[in-house]
Amino acid sequence: MRRSRYFLPTLKENPSEAQIVSHRYMLRAGMIRQASAGIYSWLPLGLRVLQKIAQIVREEQDRSGAQEVLMPTIQSADLWKRSGRYDGYGKEMLRIMDRHEREMLYGPTNEEQITEIFAGAVKSYRDLPRNLYHIQWKFRDEVRPRFGVMRGREFLMKDAYSFDLDYESARVSYNKMFIAYLRTYARMGLKAIPMEADTGPIGGDLSHEFIILADTGESQVFADRDFLSHDVLADPPDFDDAAAVASVVKRFTSLYARTDEKHDQAAFEAAVPEERRYVGRGIEVGHIFYFGTKYSEPLGARVAKPDGSETAIHGGSYGIGVSRLAGAIIEASHDESGIIWPDAVAPFKVGLINLRAADAACTAAADAIYARLQDAGVEVLYDDTAESAGAKFAEMDLIGLPWQLVVGPRGVKAGTVELKRRAGGEKQELSIDAAMARICG
Ligand code: ATP
Ligand code: MG
Repeated sequence: MRRSRYFLPTLKENPSEAQIVSHRYMLRAGMIRQASAGIYSWLPLGLRVLQKIAQIVREEQDRSGAQEVLMPTIQSADLWKRSGRYDGYGKEMLRIMDRHEREMLYGPTNEEQITEIFAGAVKSYRDLPRNLYHIQWKFRDEVRPRFGVMRGREFLMKDAYSFDLDYESARVSYNKMFIAYLRTYARMGLKAIPMEADTGPIGGDLSHEFIILADTGESQVFADRDFLSHDVLADPPDFDDAAAVASVVKRFTSLYARTDEKHDQAAFEAAVPEERRYVGRGIEVGHIFYFGTKYSEPLGARVAKPDGSETAIHGGSYGIGVSRLAGAIIEASHDESGIIWPDAVAPFKVGLINLRAADAACTAAADAIYARLQDAGVEVLYDDTAESAGAKFAEMDLIGLPWQLVVGPRGVKAGTVELKRRAGGEKQELSIDAAMARICG
């Protein structure tokens, strides 16, 4: 993409409405614009990031055996009356009346809807287990939308729903999601810590929030730093091997990690030596629940057991804040000049800078490198504008692409370019071939 043609409305000044760094940088880097409180438009650069995040989530859900569907954003109130949640959900639910005066709502979550679909289709234990997910916009009329996309009113969530015959098999489904979550965040360059969580009105004892450590997080957390040395990608269990999956889950759940809601200072000190205690803040980027027959009973999701008797299915639900992650990744990875995208979610891999657009030889060299990068399938943003070198460098640092490739008149004469790694700032003077090899290799 040529910068001269790209819709990238960057800002030089800090927008006054943004209180935290991710919100500031998302506005300044031209990723998002606010439409109204807690509701955002995603501009080209932001959308590329959002789509990369969603794609990693999708790949890891698919790998774990979940299957993608797409349910609507607008739901019928009747369904929620049948589950008993319509009144209880309160003001967070955006309630809508259609022209026939039927009560509708903009879905804050989809347990009811997926359970109804499932109830109409599955009648036998032979069709279990199943896990269905979608990546869809949600609306929650939050009292205090803030921090940009981190706490929006409209936000993109991946929500998955598992259906099993009994508690034991539901636990297997839960464990698979647990591992899929760790893999998902690790691929985005994040260390998410699973914390025992309150199930609230849902009940039961099986719920974990996945939290990344960040000073600007909304949750207070108490955790064993030993979590940070675990790498699930280095030693991934086979999803078909329930015992192997369970043992990796156990490795993580045996370490102390709780948010303030469940924190127990006695228990914390006993479990974690002082030098390993983390007390600070974190951002919730996912939440998984086992809730048994809470929705299957009222909505009639019943199946025949092997002995011919009937049972309500055991369910779980599993959310990932896809749009929140765009902000959370920035909170975890930035410096005073701007964003530092982890490779896997970067909107482009390389920012190619032509230092002197008025110099014919320099432009010819930069054009040729641009063509080569495109031929090699490398996603590249090519700054071909007549802006000053300083402005170009500042903007590239702000938008945070992993590599910057700088083509200047002096280097062109010598047959070299400058390659900079955004993370760490290391710069190297290289031949074009060597720079290509570094970027592609
Ligand atoms: P929170 O405790 O932050 O309000 P929640 O527990 O209500 O979140 P869940 O229902 O568990 O959220 O939703 C799953 C995920 O969706 C959360 O882990 C979070 O990452 C994301 N999420 C929830 N609410 C919002 C929001 N208002 N804006 C952006 N993302 C959100
Ligand atoms: Mg939660």
